[in-house]
Amino acid sequence: MNPDSAWIQTTTAFRSQFPMASLNVFAPAVQRLFENPSNLVNIAKYSLPIDLLRIHVTCKAFYTVLQKNSACWNDALQRVGLPPCPVMTASGNWSPAAYTNFIFGGGLCDHCGMWTETLPYHFLLRLRACKSACWEAMMWTPARLVTQITEGSGSPVEIALHRMVGAAFPSHFDDHWGVVYKTTDIVKATERFMRAVARIPEHETTSDLVDDWEKRIHAMPLLMKVQSRLLQPKNIP
Ligand SMILES: [Zn+2]
Repeated sequence: MNPDSAWIQTTTAFRSQFPMASLNVFAPAVQRLFENPSNLVNIAKYSLPIDLLRIHVTCKAFYTVLQKNSACWNDALQRVGLPPCPVMTASGNWSPAAYTNFIFGGGLCDHCGMWTETLPYHFLLRLRACKSACWEAMMWTPARLVTQITEGSGSPVEIALHRMVGAAFPSHFDDHWGVVYKTTDIVKATERFMRAVARIPEHETTSDLVDDWEKRIHAMPLLMKVQSRLLQPKNIP
């Protein structure tokens, strides 16, 4: 799911439960925080990821303070045994806040569309399922996942594209299907490649594209490590 849309959904859900009017009468200490939001950084030092997410969507002032402070998100993740937000030099980075929100902020099930508070079913593929049945169903839905990237009998350029995409984009090994990729990842990558090959003005060149994908390939071990850590339930509060 797009991290921005996930954030908007979380914000909307939180605001419906805790309207600003109720926060304003909580306590003088809270009122002082509204007057000097920079003090939030001290509170963040003792907060869990879910607490930070709640504070983050409280108001624009709190949002701005936390958005600028990457360390507080990474410290909170470390507090629950998770590695910090992975940083790639290639495109496709999360901000620490968006990354934390994707893991802990809930979102829509990618199969049935229901809101769920469960952790992402697959971090690397950025897929969320509300229950195992939805994940199973997703695995059988070609629109969501592609089962293989074939080299076929295409041109050398096409073969090179498929090899590069296969290495640069996250995959998942399924007992039945083997290696699967997220369909939207592959479609977007192919479209990006075709724009570069067509030398469309204001788009990147093929050499820029290959450079970016090579960086993604180098970042993959770190992303795989994060994926394996997220699969350990003991790490999650
Ligand atoms: Zn579902």
